[in-house]
Amino acid sequence: MTYKFSKHVPQSDVDAVGDILKVAGDPKVTSFAGGLPAPELFPVEEVKAAANRVLTGNGRAALQYGSSQGVPGLRQVILNRLEIEGIKTDSDHVMVATGSQQSIDLTGKIFIDEGTTVIVEDPTYLTAIDVFRSYGAHFVGVDMDEDGMKMDALEEALKNNPDTRLIYTVPTFQNPTGRTMTLERRKKLVELAGKYDVLVLEDNPYGAIRWSGNNLPSLKSLDKNNHVIYMGTLSKIFSPGLRLGWVVADPKLIKKYTMMKQSADLHTDSLAQYIAAEYFAENDIEDHVTAITALYHKREQIMVDAVDKYFPAGVTHSNPEGGMFLWVMVPGVADSQKLFDAALKRNVAIVPGDPFFGNESIPGTFRMNYSNTPEDKIEDGVKRLAEAIEEVMSK
Ligand code: PMP
Repeated sequence: MTYKFSKHVPQSDVDAVGDILKVAGDPKVTSFAGGLPAPELFPVEEVKAAANRVLTGNGRAALQYGSSQGVPGLRQVILNRLEIEGIKTDSDHVMVATGSQQSIDLTGKIFIDEGTTVIVEDPTYLTAIDVFRSYGAHFVGVDMDEDGMKMDALEEALKNNPDTRLIYTVPTFQNPTGRTMTLERRKKLVELAGKYDVLVLEDNPYGAIRWSGNNLPSLKSLDKNNHVIYMGTLSKIFSPGLRLGWVVADPKLIKKYTMMKQSADLHTDSLAQYIAAEYFAENDIEDHVTAITALYHKREQIMVDAVDKYFPAGVTHSNPEGGMFLWVMVPGVADSQKLFDAALKRNVAIVPGDPFFGNESIPGTFRMNYSNTPEDKIEDGVKRLAEAIEEVMSK
């Protein structure tokens, strides 16, 4: 059979990141490659109790088809979380999604045609690139520094690409860099979105996991004219397996999201929504987020201390104040894959930087994750990674 694929399907069968994660799953390998939360903190007993209460008291509704916009109890939980993040809104502005990954996908479906310009941070979340590319996006990457996306570069990009329909950003503890956009730049970004009449897709999966610095307002909370679509998720503060996320936007737009979601999956898993709502009613999520933050901070400190101690001179890294990732830049290395190969020879896995860029990548970059590696494995892994970097730098 000769398959005749649609143009949404990638031409190549190479799944570089999938292959990396496969080798990183080998128990011999110390993996800094994935982006998984620490499973030892999942509140298994509390979720078991919540599931029991749901199935005992509300089992028939929880096992039935539900509303495409989401279960009311969970939407209330989401509104409470949004209020903590400075976004005061009502349930007409919120749709529950199957993880924020679905929110990204629906955004692509709603706004991107073949050739539509999408501005992204360079680098950015690689699966968002995959999604937008599948809808035919033309990417314009905007440079970053430690303070997030550079606003002069963004304005230049907007001037040069007047047909831009979307700016995708992860302003807080970005994946892959761990960097956070400053308040000044946040204000400027919202101002530019207004000036050039462009939508911003604000993706905030990591914002609650902060151990230093001050909380910063979301772009959505600074936006007065519906230029920002906001996305959140329970994946990093509760459980990624439940696949629960949300979109916050103008009700007119929420209607479009809801219609597109209907054609994708009718609605998000009802049982998962009921269980999460029940868990939030009976447990203090802030205590749980505090525990996650403390553990990731500890792991990050061990990783950064080891990186500073063992990595060769000239290698630089980001300094995250929260989240799950560290971004490393190795001078004089043209091919990031060589860093991956040399590391893997020493049973350490990282993700080379290339797939995180919409267009041209910055050579010699890679991402390290600390949330998923036990404390006693980090220093030794970093030491072996340092030897790999030295080998590649010396060639
Ligand atoms: N956005 C970003 C920036 C992410 O890092 C991730 C997960 N790694 C997602 C979205 C998707 O998360 P989920 O679908 O689990 O909510």
